Amino acid sequence: MKTENWKRTHYTMEITPNMDGEEVVLTGWIKEIRDLGGIKFLILRDKEGTLQITVPKDEVDEHTLKHAESLQRQDCVSIRGVVKRMDKAPRGVEIIPKNMIILNMAKQPLPLDITGKTPADIDVRLDARVLDLTRDENRAVFQIRHAILEAIRDFLSKNGFIEIHTPKIIASATEGGANLFPVMYFEREAFLAQSPQLYKEQLVIDFEKVYEIGPTFRAEKSHTRRHLTEFISVDIEVAFATAEDVMEIAERLIQYICKMVVEKRRGDLKTLKYKVEVPEVPFKRLTYDEVVNELKDAGIKISWGEDIPTIAYRTLGRLHPYFYFIIDWPTSIKPFYIKPRDDKPEISEGFDLMWHWIEIASGGTRIHDKDLLIKRLREQNLNPESFRFHLQAFDYGMPPHAGWAIGLERLVMMLTGVRNIREAVLFPRDRFRLTP
Ligand code: ATP
Repeated sequence: MKTENWKRTHYTMEITPNMDGEEVVLTGWIKEIRDLGGIKFLILRDKEGTLQITVPKDEVDEHTLKHAESLQRQDCVSIRGVVKRMDKAPRGVEIIPKNMIILNMAKQPLPLDITGKTPADIDVRLDARVLDLTRDENRAVFQIRHAILEAIRDFLSKNGFIEIHTPKIIASATEGGANLFPVMYFEREAFLAQSPQLYKEQLVIDFEKVYEIGPTFRAEKSHTRRHLTEFISVDIEVAFATAEDVMEIAERLIQYICKMVVEKRRGDLKTLKYKVEVPEVPFKRLTYDEVVNELKDAGIKISWGEDIPTIAYRTLGRLHPYFYFIIDWPTSIKPFYIKPRDDKPEISEGFDLMWHWIEIASGGTRIHDKDLLIKRLREQNLNPESFRFHLQAFDYGMPPHAGWAIGLERLVMMLTGVRNIREAVLFPRDRFRLTP
């Protein structure tokens, strides 16, 4: 087989001053160009980092000079050159090119300033997202996202969970019809799954401890900085467990994720100028009643049984500026599958995990008794007939069980400091955005 003459021998970050004199081939994109008359500096970017390519105009051959002169930002190149120790260069080393191959020229002018010196509006950035992601700050978000996913899989796997994938095209609603996207499924109507809830619950009969990391779809009309119409949900479900058991898993997992990100992605956090503190466990547990009282003292009145509005969460976030659980929610405002307390059925065993004012996760003990589940479906004006396949699993020895769902993008916001959830997704989908 022919070896292409543009193939790299090293990544930029592998080049060190003690390689002085070695000939190397680097491939990547032109990030910046500085022309000082007799000398030209090119900053080459690859997936690992950047390196200075120095072109002393009277020392390189005519062909190389011609190429160097024609280069523009984001052109894709292969550069053969000699490593030179240079104290003044960014990493104490530079490359003097001997030959350059332009693999592809970028169309100028670019729609964005890829150095970030001229900030662009979020919509302009998202319209040219692939170009936007060439910026270090933006790629750092996804390196951290990757580290979060790695930490989640590692933690859950070590704790005896099996990774599952449940269908995303479904016949009926998980939690009622609101927020569902209908799709044409041949001659029938189907829906995009808004949660793996029912499937993961059923599967505890077979696997006991399951987790899924997968897309979920919500026809959210609200256009906020923390809602998407397609997001990744990290779900767990555990047999023979209660809310308290899975809250412990959640807090230990969050602690582990923070630890891994701090350890493994130090450079990316620095690029983002963001500090992550590894939290202590256990996290605070506030009851719904305590929250309502705290809010009352802060001048926000919430009648018992009402959901907590965003503005109240903002106040709560100021009072509890890190992680905390809210427990003992009124049963009436939790989904039908959340178990009411045996001693006080008006209070549920559901919980939310908060980070400042943002909800990161919600979960709880589930109902495992079929009759009670049917009663709760009816109370929430849902038709048990639409849940026939789910309900039949409760005839097969459904154990007591509990679980939660964490929104991956909200975790990414928490660990990168990005303030708009759209920055935590490569190609976000919201009420108005369906492209690119
Ligand atoms: P919120 O009250 O913030 O709208 P929710 O109560 O609808 O959230 P759940 O249905 O409990 O959320 O979903 C579990 C988790 O999934 C949430 O805690 C959150 O982290 C995430 N999540 C929910 N809806 C969205 C969304 N539209 N976009 C991104 N993440 C979401």
